[in-house]
Amino acid sequence: MAKEMTDKLAGAVALALTVDEVADITPRLRAVWLTTEVDDFSYEPGQDLMLHIPAGDEHIRRRYTIRRVDDRGRIEIWFVLHGHGPAAQWASAAAPGDRIDVIGPRGKVTVVPGRDWHLLAGDDSGIAALLAMAEAVPPPATAVVVAEVEGPDDEVEATVAVQWLHRNGAPAGDNDLLERALTTLELPPGEGHAYLAGEKATVKRLRTLLEGRGLDRDHQSPKAYWDRTRANAGHGEPLPDGWTGPEPGARRP
Ligand SMILES: Cc1cc2nc3c(=O)[nH]c(=O)nc-3n(C[C@H](O)[C@H](O)[C@H](O)COP(=O)(O)OP(=O)(O)OC[C@H]3O[C@@H](n4cnc5c(N)ncnc54)[C@H](O)[C@@H]3O)c2cc1C
Repeated sequence: MAKEMTDKLAGAVALALTVDEVADITPRLRAVWLTTEVDDFSYEPGQDLMLHIPAGDEHIRRRYTIRRVDDRGRIEIWFVLHGHGPAAQWASAAAPGDRIDVIGPRGKVTVVPGRDWHLLAGDDSGIAALLAMAEAVPPPATAVVVAEVEGPDDEVEATVAVQWLHRNGAPAGDNDLLERALTTLELPPGEGHAYLAGEKATVKRLRTLLEGRGLDRDHQSPKAYWDRTRANAGHGEPLPDGWTGPEPGARRP
């Protein structure tokens, strides 16, 4: 296995999980609670699981953030029900007793220590990550959360303050709500770090915008979660712009 892959998967294990409960927390966001037979499952807030999603006769991989592990040891995941794609369809049909294989926890974007403030911004797909990390910000540092959703019914209850932005019918991943909000947002005093999670082109524009506001690349953790122009690749992430090689993680004949 290549060194980079080994590093990315450090601490990750293969797990067979069982759906225990399913509930819609908003019209577009479905929570799924998964049980594991591993009793010492641990993770860093912000980390995710690589799900092996059934797709016809095969399985494809998709990444989903661990919202939390509850006091019964169940892993909670929030799926955007965006209507297309094997993962969204799996979540739409998920029922107690369903089994799913995953690899995790994985992912390097977690709360950076030693900063005075943390800006966490993204769309519906990033809400689990933004809230998990905001809840983990150590006092006296402050968390500023900005989340784009469809409308008031799509806001979720949170123990941290959230500035909700409403699309009100504008297309997900193809609007400037987050850009306008981050342009005028008053940043707290001191040294900060930004975490961006959402549609690929939007995340790229937000990263540039924040650089213009003095937050250099070392103090940003941008992560493209999905691509409005095409499905995620076989390794579960959007392909980089201009990618012409074989799909990373795709099955070879
Ligand atoms: C590290 C990481 C963590 C993630 N955590 C979460 C999470 O906690 N919750 C979550 O919901 N997503 C999360 N995502 C995003 C999720 O993996 C993608 O949305 C993925 O594309 C969903 O797979 P799919 O099979 O449903 O759709 P795909 O087969 O990838 O795409 C099918 C179609 O759906 C569109 N599409 C994909 N996602 C969305 C969306 N969110 N809104 C509107 N259209 C969409 C695509 O543009 C494409 O046209 C995460 C991604 C990464 C990389």
